[in-house]
Amino acid sequence: MQLVGNRSTSSPLIRPTKHGLFCEAGGFYIDPCRKVDRALVTHGHSDHARYGMGAYLTATPGVGVVRERVGKDAVIEGMAFGEQRRIGEVAVSFHPAGHLLGSAQIRVEHGGEVWVVTGDYKTQLDVSCEAFVPVRCHSLITEATFGLPVYRWPEPAQVFSQINQWWQDNQAEGRTSILFAYALGKAQRVLCGLDSSIGPIGVHGAVAKLNPHYRAAGRPLPETIPANAETKSILQGRGLIVAPGSAQNTPWIRRFAPYALGFASGWMMVRGNRRRRALDRGFILSDHVDWSGILQTIEASGASRVGVTHGYAPPLVRWLKEERGIDAYELSTPYASDPASLDYAGTSPASLDYAGTSPASLDYAGTSPASLDYAGTRTESESEGSDQ
Ligand SMILES: [Zn+2]
Ligand SMILES: [Zn+2]
Repeated sequence: MQLVGNRSTSSPLIRPTKHGLFCEAGGFYIDPCRKVDRALVTHGHSDHARYGMGAYLTATPGVGVVRERVGKDAVIEGMAFGEQRRIGEVAVSFHPAGHLLGSAQIRVEHGGEVWVVTGDYKTQLDVSCEAFVPVRCHSLITEATFGLPVYRWPEPAQVFSQINQWWQDNQAEGRTSILFAYALGKAQRVLCGLDSSIGPIGVHGAVAKLNPHYRAAGRPLPETIPANAETKSILQGRGLIVAPGSAQNTPWIRRFAPYALGFASGWMMVRGNRRRRALDRGFILSDHVDWSGILQTIEASGASRVGVTHGYAPPLVRWLKEERGIDAYELSTPYASDPASLDYAGTSPASLDYAGTSPASLDYAGTSPASLDYAGTRTESESEGSDQ
């Protein structure tokens, strides 16, 4: 039997357990879902950063937003991107994942063997957070929230100009623009893309409480005002307000009428979602990698073994094996059964028509739309834990 360090290659350095991804040689869990003593956390979304761990370690720029999620009394330590630290028998470092402020891939090295857990990530430009950095490794654990060939994101600059144009058009008709975006990450990314010369920008309380962490990190957020009864006269008919999707159909939103409703999410690529949510506009903007981004990341990593989690794992696993000859496997993590990634669009892909994409293009993933059904078992949740 081949040995790596003092550990047999037959027992993986990082493996799924009922508490989450576990690194036995380091004595820690990555994004655990149940209470453990030592949690390494990739980012502040609540399906990754959960309450109740003995101690948290995360990338330094993310400490503030992780604290928002897990509580002010939690023991949270930050590690600078690229800094290496010995934990147990392994060397650990955090590297930017490009998903939101402080989001990290976690690199674990043991006896010359390198593993990387991506957490959630994207490779597209996003000035609201650190840019994704590819990391070389032997084994990669990647997310696959949008791991189907139908998911191909438009250029963010193009999406932001659509949003700004929509805002101007609504303004010309005397309507308030209300843009739903996940409160942590997407909301700040959207804010950075707004043209503040158009009019006043308001934010819902759920967004407002996270913005200071972004400003403190030097991220270029425009000036915003809280959207409430006092600022109603400033925002109504002219302003754009960024709010979480859970604000739809609440008394809070009604005071800004007449309004137009938009939603910024990768799930807006799926046409039925906009209609189902009674939205005026859907903007395709995701904080997860699309299909080609996943493949590029896997290639850049040089990994010969790839574990796939989140979302469309089985079709991606099959594609990697058949088309790339990579030793790929599905990794069941607690995220898979989570509302994670379905977010406020709240739709199982199963029933959907694929916006602008012929089903034929699914074929090379070895997947027919019918086989998407398993994704439909996830709950349609409005939980704050979901991300996009
Ligand atoms: Zn996330
Ligand atoms: Zn996630």
